[in-house]
Amino acid sequence: MSTGSPAVRLCHLYPDHLNIYADRGNIAVFRRRLEWRGLELDVAEVGLGDPIPADCHLYYLGGGQDRDQLLVAEDLAGKADPLRLAADDGAVVLGVCGGYQLLGHGYAAADGRTMPGIGLLDLETTAGDSRLIGDVVLDVTLDGQTRTVVGYENHAGRTHLGGGCTPLGRLRRGHGNNGSDGCEGAVAGRRMGTYLHGPLMPKNPWLADILLGWALDYAGHPVELAPLDNHLEQSAHAVAATRAGKRR
Ligand code: GLN
Repeated sequence: MSTGSPAVRLCHLYPDHLNIYADRGNIAVFRRRLEWRGLELDVAEVGLGDPIPADCHLYYLGGGQDRDQLLVAEDLAGKADPLRLAADDGAVVLGVCGGYQLLGHGYAAADGRTMPGIGLLDLETTAGDSRLIGDVVLDVTLDGQTRTVVGYENHAGRTHLGGGCTPLGRLRRGHGNNGSDGCEGAVAGRRMGTYLHGPLMPKNPWLADILLGWALDYAGHPVELAPLDNHLEQSAHAVAATRAGKRR
């Protein structure tokens, strides 16, 4: 079943550079969860030097190591205005790991080099002298619902939030934003950033549907997303949560 026209248009930023943690897997989940409801996803891939399409509903920035982030940071800074316009208009913006850091005000890498962020999230990141690695479990409240979200983290950056955003969730397991304040990720309206990858969406169908719901709402098609059989996804979620529990 298909509506014939894409319900959600997703802009995938720098798929050739920020993609180390199966970011395409997250996008595949968005696509399938829409298709299972008879809806379509259209993906615009945007690389270095490409213009930002103004008509997307969800802007996605994936993960990368410091060297990959350095390659895109200046180019991304040049795209800040159209991205801010879209976000201010209500588009969904999701940054994962390296992409999360670049949604903030800037990132100071381990070798001392600094790179600009685009300031869509009020946060700052500085690399520490160790990496924060492992399974993560957190409690997340969005749209009045609270769920457990699971994932994997691997980052040197320590991220500290300013007053303009709130943490995505409170940690049960893992290091999160900075290894010290018990928080993971950031949210401001429909802008979201997280260190969780692995990828994130296959194990967290609830979160995927929240983001799709926001994108559909912005697209002018607010729909009650039909429930799906998530038992495989919930099994993956349970395995990750159990593994995280054993690491302590
Ligand atoms: N380069 C960043 C860091 O190590 C982000 C890493 C990543 O995307 N995994 O903090």
